[in-house]
Amino acid sequence: MSKTGTCYRADHLLKDFCNEKIQKDLSISAEKAVELKHILAVLDDLSAEELGAKIKEYGITAPDTRNPLSDPYPFNLMFQTSIGPSGLSPGYMRPETAQGIFVNFKDLYYYNGNKLPFAAAQIGQAFRNEISPRQGLLRVREFTLAEIEHFVDPDDKSHPKYSEVADLEFLMFPREQQISGQSAKKTCLGEAVSKGIVNNETLGYFIGRVYLFLTRLGIDKDRLRFRQHLANEMAHYAADCWDAEIESSYGWIECVGIADRSAYDLRAHMDKSGVPLVAHEKFSEPKEVEKLVITPVKKELGLSFKGNQKKVVEALEAMNEKEALDMKSSLETKGEVEFHVCTLGETVTIKKSMVSISKEKKKEHQRTFTPSVIEPSFGIGRIIYCLYEHSFYLRSSKTGDEHLNVFRFPPLVAPIKCTVFPLVQNQLYEDVAKIISKSLTAAGISHKIDITGTSIGKRYARTDELGVPFAITVDSAASVTIRERDSKDQIRVNVEEAATVMKSVTDGNTTWADAWANFPHHSSGSAEE
Ligand code: AMP
Repeated sequence: MSKTGTCYRADHLLKDFCNEKIQKDLSISAEKAVELKHILAVLDDLSAEELGAKIKEYGITAPDTRNPLSDPYPFNLMFQTSIGPSGLSPGYMRPETAQGIFVNFKDLYYYNGNKLPFAAAQIGQAFRNEISPRQGLLRVREFTLAEIEHFVDPDDKSHPKYSEVADLEFLMFPREQQISGQSAKKTCLGEAVSKGIVNNETLGYFIGRVYLFLTRLGIDKDRLRFRQHLANEMAHYAADCWDAEIESSYGWIECVGIADRSAYDLRAHMDKSGVPLVAHEKFSEPKEVEKLVITPVKKELGLSFKGNQKKVVEALEAMNEKEALDMKSSLETKGEVEFHVCTLGETVTIKKSMVSISKEKKKEHQRTFTPSVIEPSFGIGRIIYCLYEHSFYLRSSKTGDEHLNVFRFPPLVAPIKCTVFPLVQNQLYEDVAKIISKSLTAAGISHKIDITGTSIGKRYARTDELGVPFAITVDSAASVTIRERDSKDQIRVNVEEAATVMKSVTDGNTTWADAWANFPHHSSGSAEE
């Protein structure tokens, strides 16, 4: 970007270069191809310096102008804005929804009866100043994020419902396999947790639930993998992090991030606000513990430090165990010690008479700790985009000369659950269709009624294209047929039963297979386009 000022993402430039070389340049040696593939595997692990060195080594230039590139530099993805009319107070648009939950931790913990574990969820807009927004819904500057913050005791990350997901098997891609150039392998989740590949049970539980959620939405399980973050890719505070990646025509896309963020967020808020964001575990019997006690002697400190006394006291009290014990031994041997007070920006001399440091035995009735948080974070636009790709297919028309579009959305997901058609235009069938439509509305089932004279095959094709799973066709006043979109199979039900059957199969209480087993089958060429 040195000539025009245009910015590019360094990792994207290197990724595009490697992919293009591997796919299109037939002259590269086998060793070069292995090297480039390795770079692709560890791309997210490279530091800014390493990215810059590779860009130089391969002579990568600006994609549109071929101008030379400057060294990469970090860039703040947060959007800055100003709050209020003066324009003097800077603010930042939230890059994730999570922080609102952390600042409310105290209240949320109280609402949960002061017990762990518990979770809070939030859905809303998130804003990131992406350098190059592209690929439709996949990389945008404003997107819908849905996040769960599940708070746990850091000493007990078991999950009561873990056994419900432990036997699941799906594609997992741990760090070691990525670095050694292997591909994702079908793995039993329980084994990955017991071998320590996944850091803990609660993280494993959410990985399992995300798998179930995505596959139930209609994501193809063979094009879904859980990839562990590489060491440098992971936020410095995270204990472990896995991304649910879905394969689409744009490659593997990170759609859900599932991270153990440890106690980082709560601690950071606590440090800045001074409000204790902690949880307690009451002991059944009081425990005797050895505690470090730092007692500043305020009278002595006041005489020496006057107006600065408060800051010196706070700094003494904030010492960790090692610092305090070091000070204690120096005071005992030398009688005084130099002590740096950050808030004053200076070093002061502390005398033996100014502070007492000791270890005392105390009875404790409870343990106080900062909870860890496990966070699944769902990018809604990305999931919906991938769902469209995985749900779409083409099938031949009855005559075979036309390809018809179909979305195989599961009934639970499809925005319109069924259509109602009179088979032919006639008043009686139209009246029955309207009665059924009314009962569907009363049952809360979103549907479309189509009383146009278009051929039934065309009307079916139209609804298949919208991903409507069921079509009710009125061909008599007493009973109607229900056609399932993908099999095109039809059953016959009484007019009064139609809405109840629809409710049951679209709520997920029963399946089409149950309906197929319980009702007479109807065969008619009209279900064919
Ligand atoms: P992260 O906090 O970076 O793990 O992001 C959480 C989720 O938000 C990701 O798994 C993506 O699904 C989604 N996401 C992140 N950045 C974008 C973006 N620029 N556009 C759309 N979705 C995004």
